[in-house]
Amino acid sequence: AHLPLRGQKALVTGASSGIGAAIATAFGAAGAAVGVNYRSHPEEAEWIVEAIRGAGGEAMALKADVSSEDEVRTMFDAFGEAFGRVDVLVANSGIQRDAAFAEMTLDQWRRVLDVNLTGQFLCAREAVRRFLAQGPDPSVSRATGKIICMSSVHEVIPWAGHVNYAASKGGVMLMMKSLAQEVAQAGIRVNGIAPGAIKTPINREAWETPEAERKLLELIPYGRVGEPEDIARAAVWLASDASDYVVGTTLFVDGGMTLYPGFRENG
Ligand code: NAD
Repeated sequence: AHLPLRGQKALVTGASSGIGAAIATAFGAAGAAVGVNYRSHPEEAEWIVEAIRGAGGEAMALKADVSSEDEVRTMFDAFGEAFGRVDVLVANSGIQRDAAFAEMTLDQWRRVLDVNLTGQFLCAREAVRRFLAQGPDPSVSRATGKIICMSSVHEVIPWAGHVNYAASKGGVMLMMKSLAQEVAQAGIRVNGIAPGAIKTPINREAWETPEAERKLLELIPYGRVGEPEDIARAAVWLASDASDYVVGTTLFVDGGMTLYPGFRENG
């Protein structure tokens, strides 16, 4: 079989559910050894690890809160001890704490920025340090290292009632691009993925009932809600040498949500 990530060591944060779980599983199937990060549900992370191993891949579960500097460092240490090096980081962990702006608490604001933006900073910084220290391994990849930042269509689409979340994803976008500009000459490729509406636990109420799904589909020209595997296939490509010349870009995987479907002539 063609294994686009053969020999690569990849750490995926927030990998015990949703998009992260699908990416971890797809990475394992593509030949990578996978670190399955989780914050609070070891049994779900172990289930993903077992699924990857069952399919013939290599994986380990890694507990860490991505907003904690110490826990992120310890996680990379454990990953490095087990797999020898790190080639890919997928900074995927993310949360929502929705509130009308006037009601939003400082804690809701801070928690979302801490996990979604600072968490990506801490993980990306640790990955870059290790990429630079270990150097390239041309037998597994042309790049010295790769980082994929999980963003959202809300890095460009304003989102009332979710000001903290949209601010965090807008921040992810320019952190990703600025970092990409800074480390490209070291052979490190940093890119982002902006999912549209994907069926995961984070947005269950938006697709759970037929009425909710119908309303959601008005925003999606392609006519279906996305699946975690839609994002996982994009992540495999961005982590592989097939995308070797892709540097500092956001790949929108959104069924056309960013095409402003409200402007269609025939609705
Ligand atoms: P999800 O809730 O299933 O996944 C989020 C994961 O992040 C969970 O596994 C959770 O345990 C983990 N996490 C939360 N706080 C953490 C912390 N402090 N430390 C470590 N891990 C933590 O939802 P999802 O949809 O799979 O979300 C994954 C990413 O995709 C998020 O960044 C989200 O913003 C982004 N995204 C999702 C959608 C969508 O429609 N589902 C759309 C755009 C972007």
